[in-house]
Amino acid sequence: MRPTKRLSNLPPYPFARWADHIEAAQERGLDVIRLDMGDPDLPPPEEVIQTLCRTAREPDRHGYPGYRGIPALRRAIAAYYGQRFDVDLHPDEQVVPLLGSKEGLINLALAYLGPGDLALVPDPGYAPYTRGAILAGAEIYTIPLRPERGFLPDLEAIPTSVARSASLLWLNYPNNPTGATADLSFLSQAVDFARKVDLLLCHDAPYADVTYGSYRAPSVLQVPGATDVAVEFNSLSKMANMAGWRVGMAVGSSEALSALTQVKSNIDSGIFRPLQEAAIAALSTNRSWISARNRIYEERLDLLVDGLRSLGLEAQPPKATLYLWAAIPDGRGGGWTSESFARTLLQETGVAVAPGSFFGPGGEGFIRISATAPTARIEEAAQRFRDFEPPCAAGAANRENDPGAT
Ligand code: PLP
Repeated sequence: MRPTKRLSNLPPYPFARWADHIEAAQERGLDVIRLDMGDPDLPPPEEVIQTLCRTAREPDRHGYPGYRGIPALRRAIAAYYGQRFDVDLHPDEQVVPLLGSKEGLINLALAYLGPGDLALVPDPGYAPYTRGAILAGAEIYTIPLRPERGFLPDLEAIPTSVARSASLLWLNYPNNPTGATADLSFLSQAVDFARKVDLLLCHDAPYADVTYGSYRAPSVLQVPGATDVAVEFNSLSKMANMAGWRVGMAVGSSEALSALTQVKSNIDSGIFRPLQEAAIAALSTNRSWISARNRIYEERLDLLVDGLRSLGLEAQPPKATLYLWAAIPDGRGGGWTSESFARTLLQETGVAVAPGSFFGPGGEGFIRISATAPTARIEEAAQRFRDFEPPCAAGAANRENDPGAT
C-alpha cells in the first residue's frame, strides 16, 4: 500500500503540529490562551440559529440538497454583493455556494491546475493556495508580500515568461496573516495583469466584513470587467461568526465557476438544506450587528497591541481582519526564529500565537496573534505579556532541548 507521490510533496499542516504542542503544554498544567487560530469565539446572529432550528424540524429538508445550492441562496448571495459592493451578479451563472470557502480554493486549483501548470501564490499566505497547487501536481511561483510595500505584491516584478505560463494568481485582501488591505486601484491593476497575461485571478476575501473604523474593504468584482477574469471567494465563517457551519461562496467568472462546479459535483453533494436557509438569514444580517461585533474585535486588538509593546514587539492595529502581524525584534537577544519565539511565549506565558513561518518562508521573523478569544482572556494575555521578560534566544533554545519541553 503506497499513497501517491503527491502526498509526500504535501508538507504536514503546521497548525496540526502546533496543536500537539499546545496540548502538551495543557497536559503540563498550563492554562493556555489560544490566540493562534482565526476561529471566531462569538456566536452568529440569533436569527440564523433560529432559522437552522426551525428548518431542521421540517420533514422535507433532509434529502440531497442539490449541487449548486438552492436558488434562494444563490439569489441571497447575489443580493449581498449588490448591497454590500454594488456588484451585479447573475445568481445562476455567477454564484456558487461552497461548503466553507476552503474546499472552493482547493477544488478550483484542481479545476485549473495539473502537472506542468503554474500558480502564482503570495508569501506569506493562507496555506491552501499552495496546498491546492501541490494536490493538483502543479508548480508554484511565490510572490513576496513585504512590509515596505504594505504587503501588496509587485506584479510588475514577476518575469513575463513566468506570468504568461501561470494559470492562476491568488490574492487575499484584507490579508491573512498580515492584516494588510488593498484598495480598489490595486485590485484594478491585478485585473489588468490577469487580462494581459491571460490567467484566472482568484481573490479570497473572507475578511471583507471584519473591518474597523470607517474602513470598508472593496471586492475585486467592483473593478469594471473583473467578472471576465476573476473569481472571488467569500465566507460566512468570519462575516457572521459561522466557522463551524461551513458555508462559503465563489462568485464572478461564469466560466471559472462552471469548471469549479464540474469538480465539486464529482466530490460533494451540496450543503445541508437547513444550513442554506440559515445562510440566507446570515447574508441579510443587519450592518449594525456586524459593526457591534467588529467593535469587540477592535477593542481586543488594541489590548493586544499594548501587551505586545511591553514585549518589545511593535504591531499596528489593522484596518481589517482578526490579526496582528508583529515583527520579532532583533533587539530581544536576537537569533529567534518565529517558531522558537512562539514556543517560548507558549511555554513561559501560556499564550499560544502562530509562528509567521507557518504561512510560508516570507512569514519568518513575525508572529500572528488572533483576537478570537473572549475579551477577558485577551486582557489576561496582555497582562501575561506585560509580566514576561523574554530570555535571549540561546537560553530559550536550551530550554527547548530540555526533555520536559514540547
Ligand atoms: N481564506 C482565508 C484567507 C482564511 O483565513 C480562511 C480561514 O481562516 C479561509 C479562507 C477559510 O475559510 P472557511 O471557513 O470559509 O473555509
